Amino acid sequence: MTYYDQPLFDRTLARFGLSVPEDAQSRLDAFAGLVLRKNEVMNLTNLTSPADVAQKHLADSLLLLQAKTLPDSGRVLDVGTGAGFPAVPLAIVRPGWEVSALDATRKKVDFLEEVRAALGVPSRCLCGRAETLGKESAYREHFDVVTARAVAALYVLSELCLPMVRVGGLFAAMKGASADEELRASEPHIRELGGAVEDVIHYALDENGEDRRAIVLVKKVKQTPSKFPRPYAKIKK
Ligand code: SAH
Repeated sequence: MTYYDQPLFDRTLARFGLSVPEDAQSRLDAFAGLVLRKNEVMNLTNLTSPADVAQKHLADSLLLLQAKTLPDSGRVLDVGTGAGFPAVPLAIVRPGWEVSALDATRKKVDFLEEVRAALGVPSRCLCGRAETLGKESAYREHFDVVTARAVAALYVLSELCLPMVRVGGLFAAMKGASADEELRASEPHIRELGGAVEDVIHYALDENGEDRRAIVLVKKVKQTPSKFPRPYAKIKK
């Protein structure tokens, strides 16, 4: 069974010089099948066509690998993973990564536990709020890479994610067309949190260049002051 448009997936990745071996493709397909079947009983995604699953979910998750400063191995955390994007596709194609997937919604984490039972990834499924975990010593300054896609504006997201990145590690935010604007509004805050903007990778997900996205890469250069992360309502203000 094929739940995603494989030629479109291959073409999309090829435009960025990326490809995925056959065995990983069949695991991605199994993951897509789990998402689509669960989506019939709970709301995981509105994008369910084989083309959308191929491009907007699977390929886009893997396009994080455009970032050349990512390590080959290490601890990776995906904040606000939802149905497992980008955590699960990344864990499938990067077996050297120990991927933890975090979401605040119990039902989504229960689904991810089912994915883990079936596919062996992600390594860990965490239920909680990023701003709470970021205060706990087990997670604070703990991960080599923290990523997030479609979770919050960059200002908020930086405070949710940077406290959990170890010094020398990377925060990689997968954003839409407003990335540059969001970055202008949050760069002083990113610095205050111990980050330094390393790069912004702009790309178009589709062949016509209409679906514009960006990956904001922030290096953790010093420890986050202990007053961060603040409660969510405070961050939003
Ligand atoms: N990353 C996925 C899902 C995006 S939807 C994707 O790209 O498809 C945003 C998700 O973030 C939701 O599942 C929501 O429960 C979760 N979320 C929002 N704020 C959060 C927080 N502070 N801590 C943990 N999870 C959060």
